[in-house]
Amino acid sequence: MTEQVWTIKDVIQWSGNFLKTNGSESPRLDAELLLAHVLDCRRLDLYLDHHKPLLANEKKAYRELIKRRAAGEPVAYILGSKDFFGFSFQVSSETLIPRPDTELLVEKVLEHCSGDSALMGLDIGTGTGCIAISIKKHRPLAEVWAWDKSLGALAIARSNAARHGIEVRFEEVDALDPCSWQVAEDKFDFIVSNPPYIAPSERAELAVSVIKYEPEMALFAPENGLAFYQMMARHAASLLKQGGKIFLEIGYRQAHDVCSILDAHGWNDISAYCDLAGHQRVIVASRCSQ
Ligand code: GLN
Repeated sequence: MTEQVWTIKDVIQWSGNFLKTNGSESPRLDAELLLAHVLDCRRLDLYLDHHKPLLANEKKAYRELIKRRAAGEPVAYILGSKDFFGFSFQVSSETLIPRPDTELLVEKVLEHCSGDSALMGLDIGTGTGCIAISIKKHRPLAEVWAWDKSLGALAIARSNAARHGIEVRFEEVDALDPCSWQVAEDKFDFIVSNPPYIAPSERAELAVSVIKYEPEMALFAPENGLAFYQMMARHAASLLKQGGKIFLEIGYRQAHDVCSILDAHGWNDISAYCDLAGHQRVIVASRCSQ
């Protein structure tokens, strides 16, 4: 019996519909990204070659990936990478998947740092290293340090830095341990962080693909999701130079709380910036003067 011929166009059509009824919010995109991965081509090539039939082994490999996606596994974990700020980052089950919202945080840091000065910056909770590495890519003169508590995440971050041919000083540091903050005084021009900020009580609101696949350590924070902000508000000023700034990503309902915490610890010029969905997503503040 001859096997039915499936062209690229056919399989995208079929798997797009299949993923749509199996919980994907971007079924066609997912189908295309996974197929391009199996065929080792660009997404654009799928359109250029849409009448090309798939080989039996390609069909088999693709079917396996579609099954994983339909079970809820994020495309980034299946592919092992995710694009962020125009660069591709390796991801693993030990790192959060970089989110487009976080690009606003990087933009705000770059606006603050001119390209011709050798600034020093610190990224707290670096995960894949996407923030630290994107900043260093655009500001090669800056010296960028990055902390994470997870050794698994640091291994991925180091590999991402090597992949992009840049140097970032990665360190294993638990930012929730007050002793971690005694490392250096008046050292940095900026501190940036997209810390874990989901309250354990919000667990039920998260999508299955997040809760089942992304690392708990990168998602949840004690104190109703605010523990990292409290810690940074208390200790980060001593690490910053005069005029230094802190850049924080926050949960979409946390602007009021985070601004109050920073204010209570004497931070100045506190401002909030909205993401594309209109949620206050990034808070910037200056070191108190004493
Ligand atoms: N800073 C990393 C990112 O934005 C990791 C964030 C986290 O683990 N909470 O992707």
